[in-house]
Amino acid sequence: MILSKEKLGALVEQVKISGALFAAPAVDGGQVVMKSVNVADEISFDYVITANSAKEYLFPQTETIAVVEIEKNKVKLSAVEPDAPETVLFGVRPCDAAAFASLRSVFTWDFIDESYTKREDKSIVLSVACTKGDEGCFCTSVGLKPDTTDGSDLQLKETTDGGSFVVEALTDKGKEFVKKFSDVFDDGSADTKAIFTPDEIPGGVDIEKIKERLADPAHYADPVWPELARKCFGCGACTFSCPTCHCFDITDEGDVFSTERKKNWDACQIDNFTLHASGHNPRDTQTKRWRNRFMCKFHIYPKKFTTKGCVGCGRCVRVCPVRLDITEVMAEFSK
Ligand code: SF4
Ligand code: SF4
Repeated sequence: MILSKEKLGALVEQVKISGALFAAPAVDGGQVVMKSVNVADEISFDYVITANSAKEYLFPQTETIAVVEIEKNKVKLSAVEPDAPETVLFGVRPCDAAAFASLRSVFTWDFIDESYTKREDKSIVLSVACTKGDEGCFCTSVGLKPDTTDGSDLQLKETTDGGSFVVEALTDKGKEFVKKFSDVFDDGSADTKAIFTPDEIPGGVDIEKIKERLADPAHYADPVWPELARKCFGCGACTFSCPTCHCFDITDEGDVFSTERKKNWDACQIDNFTLHASGHNPRDTQTKRWRNRFMCKFHIYPKKFTTKGCVGCGRCVRVCPVRLDITEVMAEFSK
C-alpha cells in the first residue's frame, strides 16, 4: 500500500475527528520532537531521530495513580484510572518502536502495570524506516536494523521520489487502522530509498562477549570502570532520554488532608536513587551508578527478557554533557 504525503493531511484530520491524539515529529524549540500535532503541515520529515523518545505517550513523566483524602476518623484512598486516549504515533524510528516491545516486557513481567498496558493497547505505532542517520546511531551493533519491525504496527518506507511512503501492515491493529482510514491508503507499490546503515563502533562490539564479562562478578573490581565512568556527574539526562529506561518512583504530594499519589520517572544516575531510609546507599559513587546502568542494559535485562535493554538509538551519547559514550564502554567490554 501507498500513503502519499499529500494525503497525510486527510489522515491527521480523520484521526483527530475520531477523537484520537496524533503525535508526530515536529519542530519545537529549535529541535524535532515527538509532539501532538493538529495538521500535517506541522510534521517534520527532516530528522534523524526525535530529541525525545515516544515512550512518554505510554509511560508519562508524571501521572497521578491515586488520591488520598483524610476526613475526621476516615482515610479514603481512591485509585485513579490511567488517562489512556486513543493515540496514533506517527514517524517513530524503528529503534524507538522496538523500545516499546522492551517496555512491555518490563511492565508485564511480575506485575501487569495497567498504566502502561492500557495506553499501549490504545496506541498504534507507525514507524518510518531510517534513510539517514548520524554518528550516534548504532542499532545494528545491538542486533537491530534501521528497518526493524519489532514494536511497530505499520512500517513506512519513503519512496525514491520522496512524495510517498510504502506501507506495510505488521499487526492486526495495523491492518484495522488501514481499514478504518482506507481512503487515505492507496493500493500499489513503489521503489523506496536506500536504508541507512550505521557505522560500526570503533574497536568492534561483541554483545555475547559483553554479557559474558558482565556475568563474572570479578568485573566489579575492574579498574576500567572508574577510568571510563569518572567524568559522569549524575545529571540523569541519559536515563531520561532513553526509550527503554523504565524506572519510576512513587511520591505523595499535597498536604495532610488531601494528597495525590504520583508515579514519576526516576533515574538510576541520580545519587539518591538507591538511598535507603537508614542513610546507607549501596551505590554511593557515580562510578557504581554508571556501572549499574550499563549492567542493566547488557546483563540484567537480557537475562530476563528476549527484547532489548538498549536499542542503539544513541540519545544517551548525544545528550551527555560530558560525552560519556556508551559505545566506548561496549567496545571495551567486547575485548
Ligand atoms: S548524561 Fe552523561 S553525565 Fe549525565 S548521568 Fe548520563 S553519563 Fe552521566
Ligand atoms: S542506552 Fe542509550 S543508545 Fe541505548 S537505548 Fe538507551 S539512550 Fe538509546
